[in-house]
Amino acid sequence: MFTLPRRLKIGPGLINSINTTFELNNINGKILLCSDDFVYKKYGIIVREQAKMHGEVLLFLIKENSIQQAIELSEQIISNDIEYVIGVGGGRVLDTCKYASHMTKRKFVSIPTIVSNDGVASPIAVLKHKSGRPKSLGSTMPYVIIIDTDIIIQSPIQYIHAGIGDTISNYTALFDWDYAEQNGKETKNDLAYLISQTAFDIMINSKLDRIDQNFIEILVQSLVLSGIAMEMAGTSRPCSGAEHLFSHAIDYYFTKNNLHGLQVALGTIIMAKLYDIEYKFLIDFLKKYNIKVSPLSLGITREEFKFCMEKAPEMRPDRYTFLNEVLFNKTYNFDILFDDLMSELE
Ligand SMILES: [Zn+2]
Repeated sequence: MFTLPRRLKIGPGLINSINTTFELNNINGKILLCSDDFVYKKYGIIVREQAKMHGEVLLFLIKENSIQQAIELSEQIISNDIEYVIGVGGGRVLDTCKYASHMTKRKFVSIPTIVSNDGVASPIAVLKHKSGRPKSLGSTMPYVIIIDTDIIIQSPIQYIHAGIGDTISNYTALFDWDYAEQNGKETKNDLAYLISQTAFDIMINSKLDRIDQNFIEILVQSLVLSGIAMEMAGTSRPCSGAEHLFSHAIDYYFTKNNLHGLQVALGTIIMAKLYDIEYKFLIDFLKKYNIKVSPLSLGITREEFKFCMEKAPEMRPDRYTFLNEVLFNKTYNFDILFDDLMSELE
């Protein structure tokens, strides 16, 4: 059984009308506002002033997206009888809130200030273990999502680029899902498939030449649709294939600190080339917006690339992708592939 957000607001200037959204959704009670120090001073205060009209508001500043931090947040939620958790910030803040709200069964109001991946509206939170390695955790979708596109357009461009990259990855993720079904490994959820495909299509067909307010709205819609596709499927499968496994391997074995969306965009080009499906339109699209995803710009060496291609399927052995077939039949030369990527993406 899936749960979709009760309300989704996307548009300019919404940070100033949070009060109205709260009224319309009868949000009243004890509230815990979560943010990080920087975002709180910039946007959190604006939200806090409006939230105060709907109940007592406590503040929790999030320092890191770790499982430990989510446990501390859960403790605060339970011991203070919090009814609503509001998260204002980027993925680190929102994922911590998402998981803590899920564990404590509280309603979560999500107010993203960047959109660097499809976690904006997904049922998945990525939090770090004590070792520092990331772990994807199943969570509940936010109860209310408010995305102020004025805030997003003012956010650093690399986050917007990464958001675009995560949308592009639906292309090979869906190819992999088709392949898994054809080989009797899985049964697709057709509606989730359609939503993920639509998320990809609206982005790639946007035909907008520059990243402006209209473009941001489409990007946000695309990322939200991707999140909904995952919720409907009950798994990240509609938006995560071997291109994600490659990125997970990079994150697992090396510390690159690249944005997820940029790594999976590189992964998408890699897999499309290996799978021998059309990919030049993806490179043209990325270049149009000056999005750099070559191994060089992401600091991935030839040896690291080859190692992670081999290790990618081990990241999720239950997820069957066409890469399994490619590796099994050895129908590749990773040195040539790496050289091609360097020349095509630079
Ligand atoms: Zn992703």
